[in-house]
Amino acid sequence: MAKDVLCEVNNCKYWSNGNKCTADAIYVVSHAGDRATKQEETDCKTFDPEM
Ligand code: SF4
Repeated sequence: MAKDVLCEVNNCKYWSNGNKCTADAIYVVSHAGDRATKQEETDCKTFDPEM
């Protein structure tokens, strides 16, 4: 289980100073089926834009 998630998406409501993710858990999805081959094919689905 990932303990310290670092993230640079600073307009997400779970983002905190020092590029820390404060979500209890995150869900990472693939845009290339269930076997991504490049970083660019993955994304955080837990992302929630800060209003
Ligand atoms: S939920 Fe995802 S996008 Fe938001 S801060 Fe955490 S890792 Fe980044």
